[in-house]
Amino acid sequence: MAKNTTATILERGATLRRLWTYLLPAMRKQRSLVAGGFAALLLDVVLRALEPWPLKFLFDRAFHGPRRGKWSDFADLGNVDSSALIVYAGLALLAIAAARAVAAYASTMTFVRIGNRVLTEVRADVYRHLQGLSLAFHRKARNGELVLRIMGDVNLLKDVVVTAALPLLANFLVLIGMFGVMFWLNARLASLALLVLPLVGVWTMRLGGKIRDTARKQRKRDAGLAAAAAETFSAIQIVQALCLEGWFAANFLRRNQESNNSDFKGARLSAALERSTAFFVAAGLAAVVWYGATLVLRGELTPGELLVFMAYLKTALRPVQDLSKFTGRLAKATAAGERILNLLHTRSEVRDLPSARPAPTLRGAIRFDDVSFAYEPGRPILEALDFEARPGQRVALVGPSGIGKSTIVNLLLRFYDPSGGRILFDGVEAREYTLASLRAQVGVVLQDTVLFAASVRENIAFGTVEATPQEVEAAARLANAHDFICSLPQGYDTVLGERGLTLSGGQRQRIAIARAAIRRAPILVLDEPATGLDRENERMVLEALERLSAGRTTILITHDPLAAARADQILFLDRGRVRERGSHDDLMRAGGHYAHVYLRHHPTVEPTAFRLACNGKE
Ligand code: ATP
Repeated sequence: MAKNTTATILERGATLRRLWTYLLPAMRKQRSLVAGGFAALLLDVVLRALEPWPLKFLFDRAFHGPRRGKWSDFADLGNVDSSALIVYAGLALLAIAAARAVAAYASTMTFVRIGNRVLTEVRADVYRHLQGLSLAFHRKARNGELVLRIMGDVNLLKDVVVTAALPLLANFLVLIGMFGVMFWLNARLASLALLVLPLVGVWTMRLGGKIRDTARKQRKRDAGLAAAAAETFSAIQIVQALCLEGWFAANFLRRNQESNNSDFKGARLSAALERSTAFFVAAGLAAVVWYGATLVLRGELTPGELLVFMAYLKTALRPVQDLSKFTGRLAKATAAGERILNLLHTRSEVRDLPSARPAPTLRGAIRFDDVSFAYEPGRPILEALDFEARPGQRVALVGPSGIGKSTIVNLLLRFYDPSGGRILFDGVEAREYTLASLRAQVGVVLQDTVLFAASVRENIAFGTVEATPQEVEAAARLANAHDFICSLPQGYDTVLGERGLTLSGGQRQRIAIARAAIRRAPILVLDEPATGLDRENERMVLEALERLSAGRTTILITHDPLAAARADQILFLDRGRVRERGSHDDLMRAGGHYAHVYLRHHPTVEPTAFRLACNGKE
């Protein structure tokens, strides 16, 4: 048990130290507020220390006439009569209470402000960090859980820093000071009172460890609950279509119940700790009253002095009681803080090298040089992949499903780094450039376009920092999107996405094309951009893509042999390697896999004719 307790203390100490180190820079920025908050708190405590004195004078002077106790020299009130003393004492009590109210209000508000400012920074930090983490991390993480960390965990930390941690820290300093004064007042009484502390300390650590374990488990369960809810809502269409509501509801209910049980267990332990601590403190006070009363009866202490001592003891023991009261919340906050820190210490597998420099405007030459890659060790997806795209060339990646076509694009955009080999842009290895500057030079149109909850104009202009309305319109025209945008209720200012208008698949793709067009990037990645569209929409999207890809190095992933046939170079992939490469005519002449797939789909159609049809020249 002792071993366990020691381990718990060390572990908790380490977590709190990590948290403190992390929060310190943000706290430092609030230096003057922290000083102000502590000053107000100190004033509150000093006033609390003054509070029993009017009563002491009432007891020792007004009720019994002038008596000389040990501390009577403090305030020689001369010949003040009893009735005046009662009035003065009442007024003094009132004045102290009013001043205390002001000081306590000031300290609370200051701590709230510090907590808000510091934790707002923490939240922004966590958000920024999460955004920068690699795709590998995000593919494994559950969105609901991440949102819970940014919102719930940070809030919990804020709440506790404001309402518990800072006041507790200050009050512990007060405890030390108060015991100092109490020893000066009466060493024997103070020693007796001091016995309470180790008793409460050991008890708090024992139960506190259990509370912390429960809090940890509960935060984990809450995260699972949030993730489950987020997954259901993000896939609500398929959930409803497959009538899975009942299954998901039962799953949610089970997790909810587990979280509830943990919460109850935590609350039960906290209540037990709080009540038992209150009992220990009361027992300590009773012992002091008993011994103090004996001293009063012996004439070694005045009743007023005992009153003052008791008041001090109560003030001194307050943080001890507060600690037990806040242990549950502190435990939850420590668990939350631990999770936040773990998240912040997660390093992105893909990041800028210290020597990385911004990429200049690229011409668009791409080379995969002996590239190999595996998402998971032992399951290679690409092996010794070699290919080259000249500036302005269109390269189509074709091959069976799950062969690694999208993986090539992921590597190109540096969502992942290859496990072997190099990827070169204009002859320079990708890792020598900063991620942001490289990605800024690649326009992307994927199969599923995500529109943000913003206006059409903003959705298009997301592709570039400052786009003029004319540029947005030009991009929309290129993307065959201008006409349908004009027919929307507020044209370019129509709000899309969440709570806004929803567009059809083809319209979304055309917005994505406009988004890519406005970037004027020399490289274009198209990952099955026209899959799943009806003929008319497909025609419009392909036509727009034809215009968009003109003069840009284009990497096209497609299952449509007709679309692939229009490329300058076709790479037929199989088992992580390029099985066949060349133009459509070369590959048809070779009569390999590509020719076989092409003829199976389109025994009669000529690709060149299709291209002209797309351009509207036929
Ligand atoms: P499709 O034509 O069906 O879109 P694809 O050729 O684009 O397929 P990829 O998406 O590149 O194939 O996937 C290649 C392989 O890598 C697949 O076997 C897939 O299961 C695996 N894979 C893809 N993403 C991940 C990931 N994040 N973690 C682990 N394995 C992955």
